[in-house]
Amino acid sequence: MEAYKVQQHKYDVIVVGAGGAGLRATFGLAEKGLKAACITKVFPTRSHTVAAQGGISAALGNMGEDDWRFHFYDTIKGSDWLGDQDAIEYMCREAIPSIIELEHYGVPFSRTEEGKIYQRPFGGMTTHYGKGTAQRTCAAADRTGHAILHTLYQQALAHDATFFIEYFATDLIFDEEGVCRGVLALDMNEGTLHVFRGHAVVLATGGYGRAYFSATSAHTCTGDGGGMVLRAGLALQDMEFVQFHPTGIYGSGCLITEGVRGEGGYLTNSNGERFMERYAPNAKDLASRDVVSRAMTMEIREGRGVGEHKDHIHINLMHLGAGVIHERLPGIAESARIFAGVDVTKEPIPVIPTVHYNMGGIPTNYHGEVVQKRGDNVDAVVPGLFAIGEAACVSVHGANRLGSNSLLDLVVFGRAVAHRCAEIVKPGAPHKDLPASALDQALGRFDSLRYAKGSLPTAKIRAEMQRTMQSDAAVFRTGESLKEGCDKISKVYDSFKDVGVSDRSLVWNSDLIETLELSNLLGQAVATMYSAEQRPESRGAHAREDFPERDDANWQKHTLVSVDDHGKANFDFRPVHMYTMTSDVEVVPPKKRVY
Ligand SMILES: Cc1cc2nc3c(=O)[nH]c(=O)nc-3n(C[C@H](O)[C@H](O)[C@H](O)COP(=O)(O)OP(=O)(O)OC[C@H]3O[C@@H](n4cnc5c(N)ncnc54)[C@H](O)[C@@H]3O)c2cc1C
Repeated sequence: MEAYKVQQHKYDVIVVGAGGAGLRATFGLAEKGLKAACITKVFPTRSHTVAAQGGISAALGNMGEDDWRFHFYDTIKGSDWLGDQDAIEYMCREAIPSIIELEHYGVPFSRTEEGKIYQRPFGGMTTHYGKGTAQRTCAAADRTGHAILHTLYQQALAHDATFFIEYFATDLIFDEEGVCRGVLALDMNEGTLHVFRGHAVVLATGGYGRAYFSATSAHTCTGDGGGMVLRAGLALQDMEFVQFHPTGIYGSGCLITEGVRGEGGYLTNSNGERFMERYAPNAKDLASRDVVSRAMTMEIREGRGVGEHKDHIHINLMHLGAGVIHERLPGIAESARIFAGVDVTKEPIPVIPTVHYNMGGIPTNYHGEVVQKRGDNVDAVVPGLFAIGEAACVSVHGANRLGSNSLLDLVVFGRAVAHRCAEIVKPGAPHKDLPASALDQALGRFDSLRYAKGSLPTAKIRAEMQRTMQSDAAVFRTGESLKEGCDKISKVYDSFKDVGVSDRSLVWNSDLIETLELSNLLGQAVATMYSAEQRPESRGAHAREDFPERDDANWQKHTLVSVDDHGKANFDFRPVHMYTMTSDVEVVPPKKRVY
């Protein structure tokens, strides 16, 4: 192995990731007087959060009656009773002050006539425990993520936090006692290696949508944090639950926000029928995402898809009129024109369910502390390690996330991590010396991939992985397709031993970076496929044709999956938290989920 010179940096807290979650945590930490460093592989405002369109939920009640307890109920029902009810209580209650804070930081929300924050209806968001429709999703037109991310970055710059931009974090560093002590990263611009020491490391690295062929997420969504956690021998949680957004543009996968249906848009099949009325008589087009994606898939399967191959569906917004479209959905009009060649004031947009969000991830409690099952302790904290945002699984989304609850999750738990670190980290506390060997494993892996001399190009292995995930861990799953999927994904995983990297340089070496990303994706692809295979029930986004019912007696529990050095998935389980934090709300017992 080459003898690398590694520069050392010491901070109170290290945040990896500068999307909505990472930025909210970073300036929250600085605000608390902690010395924070934020490491990011892309420029902060290019993080995937920038692409969020529809909005962020909070029961402000600006446009009709609302209550955070209704939001609590909807989120539990949306999660198909897999969400932890204490964490959901925390998120829905804290939503209100968190949004007011965002407003004060300067997020340019759309406004009502009286000047209040504009709120639109979104799927699964109701009043009075399922009876009415809530207008709960706060929006900045259809560019809410853009507005929030830019504001958060400006806030972070206004505080005393240090950014390391275009640094790629490769692996976590632990001491002999299993305490997380830092992270190793490559400065892609200079080609130098750095170890960032912190009393806490916060993973805010986003989702792993790019394990699939067609996803709404950015090419940078490669689940690097989840990959690091798996390599550290820790378990990920609920990886079988992958959300398909009903309306990705057919062909490109580019997202058409649920806000389109919130504003009155609707889906039709080849007969021009509004078929959602048959599947969800009350909520119709605003049923939960998993429900709508399955209904669309059924329509296509039964021969009522649109287009030459009858393999997609139409979404219509012509009737809304150019005025509403240009005021509330300008970005959608633009995306439809560019990616589908459609003028939305005149024609419907061709759409298809597309991979969108990972409910699963790094298990945490509602402080953002990473937890693992250790003997009888099902919520044992891993000292020094935190996770937030889409990388994490708190679990507030359970088996299915409601639209506009993710942006909320980012700010609520980004803030929670800052609060928690302020309690447990003393500013300027000295760092424990690590043995010289502490970096060996991380450096060894980096070096072996840099010099990988195998016969398979990274792109080829990646394409094989993406095709397998797309076909076998899809909207509908069967025991047979999943078994086959497990065999195939294990073969792809094994083939990575024969990967070849053509460029040895450390400066702007995209081949090396994509190889590091692929290794992170592969672990999570294996975790997802095997987790899906072992869960014999249908719950939320996990729809098994051979087990169409939810099985609460045996399967109302979180899957914990680790992946060993040979790519073998190992399973354990944690109970769902069926308790609340306070007596302000009551536990919602499981019942049939209809919209
Ligand atoms: C098209 C689209 C539209 C959406 N619309 C909505 C919506 O309207 N409402 C809603 O609630 N949710 C929406 N979502 C979901 C939501 O936007 C995402 O879940 C959320 O933005 C994820 O934020 P994050 O901070 O966890 O990660 P990201 O925003 O993905 O940021 C990840 C960060 O981690 C950094 N990073 C990753 N790996 C490394 C590494 N190895 N080293 C260093 N840095 C690294 C990246 O540079 C980046 O800064 C949407 C998602 C998509 C894809």
